[in-house]
Amino acid sequence: MPKIKKTIALIAHDGKKAEMVAFVKDNIEFFKSFNIVATSTTGKLLEKTGLKVKRMLSGPIGGDAQIASLVATKKCQAVIFMRDPLGMHPHDPDISSLLRICDVHDVPLATNPSSAKLIVIGLHKNL
Ligand code: PGA
Repeated sequence: MPKIKKTIALIAHDGKKAEMVAFVKDNIEFFKSFNIVATSTTGKLLEKTGLKVKRMLSGPIGGDAQIASLVATKKCQAVIFMRDPLGMHPHDPDISSLLRICDVHDVPLATNPSSAKLIVIGLHKNL
């Protein structure tokens, strides 16, 4: 029976999008072995790497909330969210909610490249 692919969510704030794209390129074979969901603009950039991406709404209009819903319903097994800690975000409540939902459901969550690397290493062992 074919192994069912797990799903990883990728989100990057504007100030971190270049870093996210570089990170995904560096680990492209790893990400190809997962279903990828992303907020809209992040996803559009990631598609240029050749990755197949299911794009949700843009973060500020509900994309983070959609991803939180996937986490809460066990449809997403890890979240890499490259946050910009120096920026202002109108959708802070949605961001906090996503982080909280990951904690509620004990779903791995990385919010910077170093912790994202650890998720890649950790999940790679389980492939
Ligand atoms: P975006 O959303 O990928 O559509 O820019 C990310 C966010 O700001 O949460």
